[in-house]
Amino acid sequence: MTEPLVSRMRSFGTTIFAEMSALAVRTGAINLGQGFPDTDGPAAMLDHAVHAIRSGANQYPPGPGVTELRQAVSEHREEHYGLSYDPDGEILVTVGATEAIAAAILALCEPGDEVIAFEPYYDSYAASIALAQARLVGVTLRPDGGRFAFDPGELRAAITPRTRVILVNSPHNPTGTVFTREELTLVAELCREHDLIAVTDEVYEHLTFDGVEHVPLATLPGMRERTVMISSAGKTFSVTGWKTGWICAPAPLVGAVQTVKQFLTFTASAPWQAAVAYGLRHEREWVAALRASLQDKRDRLMEGLAAAGFEVFRPAGTYFVQTDIRPLGFDDGVALTRRLPELAGVVAIPTQVFYEHAERGRPFVRFAFCKKDEVIDEAVTRLKRLSG
Ligand SMILES: *Cc1c(COP(=O)(O)O)cnc(C)c1O
Repeated sequence: MTEPLVSRMRSFGTTIFAEMSALAVRTGAINLGQGFPDTDGPAAMLDHAVHAIRSGANQYPPGPGVTELRQAVSEHREEHYGLSYDPDGEILVTVGATEAIAAAILALCEPGDEVIAFEPYYDSYAASIALAQARLVGVTLRPDGGRFAFDPGELRAAITPRTRVILVNSPHNPTGTVFTREELTLVAELCREHDLIAVTDEVYEHLTFDGVEHVPLATLPGMRERTVMISSAGKTFSVTGWKTGWICAPAPLVGAVQTVKQFLTFTASAPWQAAVAYGLRHEREWVAALRASLQDKRDRLMEGLAAAGFEVFRPAGTYFVQTDIRPLGFDDGVALTRRLPELAGVVAIPTQVFYEHAERGRPFVRFAFCKKDEVIDEAVTRLKRLSG
């Protein structure tokens, strides 16, 4: 048989997470690669999911999502950001943020359209853009004063007459950057000037540290009307397996995305939707405690990685610490992470797989800190073998 996979997907193979998680299982290494927590979400919210199943929430919910969840998302946007979205027509529940991103790109981009994304980027962006036969244009985030940031001139220069969408992920995975109001103001200016649609991935909206504020792009002048705002329950409530996300946008944009979404999955799973509505309404304190605990874990891992000889960048949000491996005498993150289980009994993710220009990410390696303290401590102890 000839190669069964369509050519536009051939470069995607298996994801780095599958490769590295399999490596962790095979070698018994500690997995600080994939970003999922090793503790559960709020107990009462889990009980709500059980209760939803027991009380018959087991058939197809409405296409746009369960009313209660759409209402809870609407209230949440209003209370946190002063953004008003009508639960009927301006909110769509999706199978995680991943489906929301894919459906948005497929709905909004013609073949040949260009999508700007800041690199390194979350790996599903490139695949969704390829599925749409659109073209990804990477604008590089580079270390700048201890954080990863973009060059305004480079962003400006990336825009062409074919640019349709700019994908903005803040808090940003994998660098941990939270874009400042000033940075977002420039993005907003360019969107207005060039009539671009912004698709924002805000799944870490509540996981920021040191009092850093998350600013949704849609709150900036003229942006609500051109922004598809995406978030999900997975990161906020430590339920990454629930795959329950949502889109907030003006009705014409939601309508476009829903047209595609209905033929990908029709609707998202019912029991999680009622439970997430409960979480959004009643688990704020739990989320605040999660944020504080993650900040401690970040500090714990950063300290350990620095002691082990890495150059460490302080993330202002997310689950991840970005490191530069050159002080340890290595220069290729892919080569090092393949050997890391054997050298130190730890699995991490080479950041260069998240770049369009892979060479720009060569020395960077990402570690996840959304793990129990004892897991972080053991990983750090092992990593000290690298310099020993
Ligand atoms: C985890 C993650 C997602 C996926 O969210 P789901 O709700 O699990 O689909 C999307 N974007 C980023 C940046 C993520 O880290």
